[in-house]
Amino acid sequence: MSKFLEEKQQEQGFQMNRRKFLKAGAASALAVGIVGAIGVLPSEAMASQTGSQNGAKSKLHPNVDYGGATVRFVENNDQWLGTSKIVGSIKNTHAADAGFNYAIRGKLTPEARKESFHYHFVGKHPFNAALMGFVGVIAPDAMCGGKPAPEKLPIPDPEQMSQHIKDCAYYLRADEVGIGKMPSYAYYSYRSPSQDDLFKNGDDLSKSIPVTERMPYVITFMVDQHLETMLGSTGYDGISAGQSFRSYHASGVIAVILASYIRNLGYNARANHISNYEAVMGPCLIASGLGELSRTGDCVAHPRLGFRHKCAAVTTDLPLVPDNPIDFGLQDFCRVCKKCADNCPGGAITFDDDPVEHNGYLRWNTDSLKCTIFRSTNKEGSSCGRCMKVCPWDSKEQSWFHEAGTWIGSKGETSSRLLKTIDDMFGYGTEQIEKYKWWLEWPERY
Ligand code: SF4
Ligand code: SF4
Repeated sequence: MSKFLEEKQQEQGFQMNRRKFLKAGAASALAVGIVGAIGVLPSEAMASQTGSQNGAKSKLHPNVDYGGATVRFVENNDQWLGTSKIVGSIKNTHAADAGFNYAIRGKLTPEARKESFHYHFVGKHPFNAALMGFVGVIAPDAMCGGKPAPEKLPIPDPEQMSQHIKDCAYYLRADEVGIGKMPSYAYYSYRSPSQDDLFKNGDDLSKSIPVTERMPYVITFMVDQHLETMLGSTGYDGISAGQSFRSYHASGVIAVILASYIRNLGYNARANHISNYEAVMGPCLIASGLGELSRTGDCVAHPRLGFRHKCAAVTTDLPLVPDNPIDFGLQDFCRVCKKCADNCPGGAITFDDDPVEHNGYLRWNTDSLKCTIFRSTNKEGSSCGRCMKVCPWDSKEQSWFHEAGTWIGSKGETSSRLLKTIDDMFGYGTEQIEKYKWWLEWPERY
């Protein structure tokens, strides 16, 4: 066991004892403190948060669940995407410059290149490898795109169609759905050669495919990575990659089916998912009102799920009414929290107070390459999602108490400090609950 994990587990034992004590006796006292700090009963304020307040209202999921956070809706314009400030021209990036593709090209370390192969194809963890293998089934272009049906069915009411599209995605088991205006910079400039090609040919990008599509709308959906599994895990043990791929494969299947349905209606639609992206998911999620950029760099946190999700998207010209981006106070919160940076085993997340310019927009200066190196070469499991596990926005339980906490956290910097303190006091995020550990570890493969 690493020193990092050992220290974290000792810390956790202390937190768990304190948690039992506090949960038994201190909840009501804390509630009084909350009311004092904010000046209103959380339950009253939260009651006013329920109901769809953004875009078309789904019939199957009429009450958007922000987990108690106070959410404000913001306009899209040239200076802002949601709460991310645009300070220059945002260039479309090459998909081969992202994450594991970059490692497989040999641009990081020889070990990261070799272990990325082990991780993806040979199967560092047999269960996770089975999940990853499945996303290959939905990878071909013929699954993701194609020509629409020759007859365009009339869409007299785009709002009703937006409601219907959200209902379709929820029916197909999405946990959160949004519709956004598609920013032109949210497309990759080129699709990467396949990872198989990159393994064989290293840094030869001659098989890259230019991305020429420009659609007005993007439909994005999140699938939860599973609360109990996250509570039972360190965040970087055997199940870590499996958690990601549980949500990647499920959101990918939704994207493929929904894009195919829209093409059957006579409109253009393309599925974008983990094994076939033309669109960059971060800006698509923000444009669709599903989250804000966080301290972890380009990762988007949702007010209830945090980053305990993976997503996929459909770009389309179906007439729709887009949602607005949201602001739940994450920029202020990340400025004071730094919990992910404290807990990142790869040392990838910045402790800076403020975001810096990156490719024409402001984001925290987190080193995604260090993250990729850690995830591919992790000797204590398969990949990593420790930042996802510890983030206070990742709902730890379904209770008024947690909802009150997130409500406080969305109220500005002072209240952010209060939520961070409550989160640490209860040991949230760093705890590991043994009864939820259902998967097998295969340390001989790590
Ligand atoms: S752990 Fe804290 S600093 Fe990190 S992303 Fe979550 S809220 Fe922001
Ligand atoms: S996934 Fe792990 S290594 Fe990467 S930033 Fe998050 S905590 Fe750090």
